[in-house]
Amino acid sequence: MAALLRTPLSSGIQFASRVSDVESIDTPFGKSMIVINDRRMKQSRSLSAGLIVRGSDQSKRGHVAKASQESDIQPTTLADNKLAARGQAIDGLEVLKNRFHKFKESDYLANSDYYKKLAQGQDPKYFIVACCDSRVCPTKILGIQPGEAFTVRNIANLVPPYEHGPSETTSALEFAASLPLIRDILVIGHSKCGGINALMQNDGDYGERIEGWLSVAKSARLTTKAAYGYLNFDKQCQHCEMESVNSSLLNLLTYPWIEKKVNEGKLNLHGGYYNFIDCSFEYWTLDYRQELEGGSKYGFKNHSVWR
Ligand SMILES: [Zn+2]
Repeated sequence: MAALLRTPLSSGIQFASRVSDVESIDTPFGKSMIVINDRRMKQSRSLSAGLIVRGSDQSKRGHVAKASQESDIQPTTLADNKLAARGQAIDGLEVLKNRFHKFKESDYLANSDYYKKLAQGQDPKYFIVACCDSRVCPTKILGIQPGEAFTVRNIANLVPPYEHGPSETTSALEFAASLPLIRDILVIGHSKCGGINALMQNDGDYGERIEGWLSVAKSARLTTKAAYGYLNFDKQCQHCEMESVNSSLLNLLTYPWIEKKVNEGKLNLHGGYYNFIDCSFEYWTLDYRQELEGGSKYGFKNHSVWR
């Protein structure tokens, strides 16, 4: 039972319960937007274009009831726009249905040989760990195609150490040992990470499932506090968003098959940091060898920023 309490899935559901009370409101521009009431995240500003976070103001709740008659979702595809142009409401699942049919027509059927081959089995080249955050979509920002990456998403894109016990992330990493073509593992952190914000707050206000999961990155919080405790809280969080990625890279080395392959030069461990405020992607590689000079077994190399 204790292991269940620490899984990223249970912490993700608990975290999602805080991103609650979705409402539609009329904006000064005459369009609907989605508003999220959340007593913690209200401190943390705008979530993304089209999303506003605000406090406990209940005055707009009436719009929830209207959402089924009046579209509360911005049309984002051609098919959505056609529906909107005809004045038809677009409910959430209708949007997904339209998008699925569009994918089938323009991608699946147009590349049927590729998808038939995928149906025989997968041989991904990458293993990716990314955050549950809805703004961070590794397949979108890195152009990853179906079949290319074995992917795990959890709160704050954490990798627990091998001895942590069963979790979605550890089981995915175990499974990846049987995928011979994986040569690169990429842990992707990101700007304005709510999970890292909660980790840095460390005030026990998020409940045991979230706190238990975030404890995986406790060392990143302590390192950040020691090195950057003099900065304001937002800056500390930014540093911790990257520090936690490094913590996860080192935790990857506690998996025997990963440590062995890295040592043999058959597997590379990379850190990534997607900043969706200025749309940049920072990238670096863990340099690990058992006999690395200088006393330390690891360092970092290949640091670059994609703009
Ligand atoms: Zn995050």
